[in-house]
Amino acid sequence: MSKGTLLVLTGASSVGKGAIRDCLLEDESLQLFYSISMTTRPKKEAEKDGIDYYFVDRKTFADAVRSRELLEYTQFDGYYYGTPLAYIDFLLKIGKNVLLEVEAQGVGQIKLRYPDALAVFVVPESMEELEKQIRARYNDQASADLRVNKASMEMELSSLFRHQVKNNDAQQAKEEIAKMLVEHKANKKG
Ligand code: 5GP
Repeated sequence: MSKGTLLVLTGASSVGKGAIRDCLLEDESLQLFYSISMTTRPKKEAEKDGIDYYFVDRKTFADAVRSRELLEYTQFDGYYYGTPLAYIDFLLKIGKNVLLEVEAQGVGQIKLRYPDALAVFVVPESMEELEKQIRARYNDQASADLRVNKASMEMELSSLFRHQVKNNDAQQAKEEIAKMLVEHKANKKG
């Protein structure tokens, strides 16, 4: 059993995991270290390399897969996303808590390596509300359709998760997850 706790934040696409992640990281009492993913997606203007993601080309990503440097990876909207393993292993071994934000499909692989990870699935207020949010965020109809379809498929995976949180409000969702984390740590010890 690892010394630190791995908290995996997952859920349907566009459900607002990023805002909850930011609230979790702002709470210093939780002492969470964020695991930065690697992606082949182009950097958006507001993003920073090495903070939001490690932005790499396809060859670098393929090399990382081949040399088993990634805990898990996935393809989404034509780009690859993956979780570098070494940093997580290091942090957990020295007793730090680590936060990962991934798509639901990646969680199985994570649980295989870290069976005592706490995985929390973020659900929307309703599927209608989520669709509204997606369509407001993506003007381009094809991108919006892709995400709506993906989100409804991902919602079908939600029943596999014992820990679920509704995202009506990011701060409130964060409070619920913080409580789950405290209970999870207590159960791990006991
Ligand atoms: P975005 O391009 O909007 O930043 O991310 C697209 C999706 O990829 C989001 O649902 C995000 O949670 C997911 N994602 C980001 N990093 C990883 C990762 O390392 N592994 C997996 N499986 N999904 C990721």
